[in-house]
Amino acid sequence: THSHLDHIACLPFILDSVGDQRNTPLTMHATQATQDIIRKHIFNWQIWPDFSEIPSPENPFLRFNTIEVGKSLVIGERSITALPANHTVPAVGYQLQDLSSGASMVFSGDTTTCDPLWEMVNAIDNLRYLIIEAAFPDSERELAKLSKHFCPSLLLEELAKLESDPDIYVTHAKPGMFKQIEAELLRGAGRRRINMLAAESVFEF
Ligand SMILES: [Zn+2]
Ligand SMILES: [Zn+2]
Repeated sequence: THSHLDHIACLPFILDSVGDQRNTPLTMHATQATQDIIRKHIFNWQIWPDFSEIPSPENPFLRFNTIEVGKSLVIGERSITALPANHTVPAVGYQLQDLSSGASMVFSGDTTTCDPLWEMVNAIDNLRYLIIEAAFPDSERELAKLSKHFCPSLLLEELAKLESDPDIYVTHAKPGMFKQIEAELLRGAGRRRINMLAAESVFEF
């Protein structure tokens, strides 16, 4: 979704661990802007080797595929479409659609208030699940805005723009603030079905 360390930290180690056990390169699907940042600051031979040239440029461990907002990528039975997001670095969310059932889930990635996101989400038929973030509690609403995240009150205001009625799962809560963020969300949820996203959750659709 974007280049921040909490979202890419394992990528260099995945390549180091399993690169030589695969027959094909691991493909990183990302916008050009995100690729540029990761190439410049991670796979630059200083922080980590450039695995798009290892073991050889013709047959590397890593290759990049450029995605664009609104464009879909089909992998097997699933279609993945990049959605707009509004964060401090170039960022996207994703719609994941099962091509046989037609049902979808949306993952926001890191974002704050973003009208173009809701325009695209409201055009999705049969949206079953929305996974969205709330990184801060309401006592840090200004920090949430500055760092372009959500706190519960900002998120609940934003959800007024959502026209469908998916199950909503909230992620990215600071561990020490988890209970507070959960309580604030549940207090304001109204008719929305909102839960905190638990580790090892399985979504079927
Ligand atoms: Zn971020
Ligand atoms: Zn993050």
